[in-house]
Amino acid sequence: MNHSYRCWAEVDLTALRENLAWIRHRVGPDVKIMTVVKADAYGHGLKQIAALLMQSGTDVFGVANLAEAQAIRSVGRGWPVLMLGACLPDEVDRAVRDDVMPTLSTLIEAKLFSAAAVRLKRTVNAHVKVDTGMGRLGVATGQAGELIEAVGHLPGLRLVGIYTHYAAVEDDAIFAREQRLRFNRLLTPLLKAGRTFEYLHANNSGALLLEKATIFNTVRPGLAVYGVVPPAKRRIASVLKRHLRPALSWKCRVSLVKEVTAGTTLSYGRRFVASRPMRVATLTVGYGDGYLRSGSGRAQVLIGGKLCPVVGCITMDQMLVDVSALKRVKAGDEVVLVGRQRRKEITAAQLAEWAGTIPWEVLTAITYRVPRVYRGGHAA
Ligand SMILES: *Cc1c(COP(=O)(O)O)cnc(C)c1O
Repeated sequence: MNHSYRCWAEVDLTALRENLAWIRHRVGPDVKIMTVVKADAYGHGLKQIAALLMQSGTDVFGVANLAEAQAIRSVGRGWPVLMLGACLPDEVDRAVRDDVMPTLSTLIEAKLFSAAAVRLKRTVNAHVKVDTGMGRLGVATGQAGELIEAVGHLPGLRLVGIYTHYAAVEDDAIFAREQRLRFNRLLTPLLKAGRTFEYLHANNSGALLLEKATIFNTVRPGLAVYGVVPPAKRRIASVLKRHLRPALSWKCRVSLVKEVTAGTTLSYGRRFVASRPMRVATLTVGYGDGYLRSGSGRAQVLIGGKLCPVVGCITMDQMLVDVSALKRVKAGDEVVLVGRQRRKEITAAQLAEWAGTIPWEVLTAITYRVPRVYRGGHAA
């Protein structure tokens, strides 16, 4: 029991291990798995998750900044790390010293890395990113050949990877196909000419489930590693979804139960008015813990195995739920915000829908105030 906590997240390391094992099964033994652990491993705790993934067959890590790369290094040496974002000019030296693989979109970046590599007497293993329709990073397909050629010739640089990123793979099969065609149009002549890439990759979690043709030799899942299926308009085969199990459960407790009369208003702004006599519970979670305020009046929680609606505005440290349907609810009771309770489950995707957002944001919004409690294995 975690009864000294007011609000906490339980991370089931067995689930994580099994999700990774399933991804391994899906891609086969020869494809490298780059587990994406940016934003504190999607809120699960970077060092603990990196340690677990190192023991469970990850080949390479994807990060969003150099501090994340360093945290991985502090857990275990030797794992390759790809910086998924663009390095700032003043981060180049550190990236080279820390042996982080950069993502290159322009010749300017390539030259900065080449100069730093020569100066620091190091070799930089670089990935060229190709923009096939995401419009965020990457070289335009028309200029990609030129950049690849240049990177291949700059001193101190070794071109080890080439990749692209889907913009709407979960919802738009037609545009996904267009991106695949654009990428393949670039790749085919390169591969025909005998070029090889240690890392050739495109698939995030959604694509891993929906675009088998672009598994190439490396995949780049984030969300799926944590056991969350990305929301999709496209149909994801249930056999695929069945194998992913959420690693994170988020819990808090009832701090007070009271009866209110019809006409009582609840919380800031007085936007909720009780239309009947109600039993209301005050909970030990708020937006200061990362429970998104936009879920006010829409989200639900699990108490005693029943769904209870959030009423009134979510405040920084507390919120209110309607527990009129529950007979035996009392201060100290455990509340599930995300996860299972008896036969019911609230997924991160469900909470995201209530809060008008996506599961990635629900997970990464959980703040430092919420202790992460690890179960089912050894973590760092
Ligand atoms: C975050 C990210 C991923 C992982 O995406 P998921 O949808 O969480 O699997 C993969 N590739 C890049 C470039 C990313 O930024």
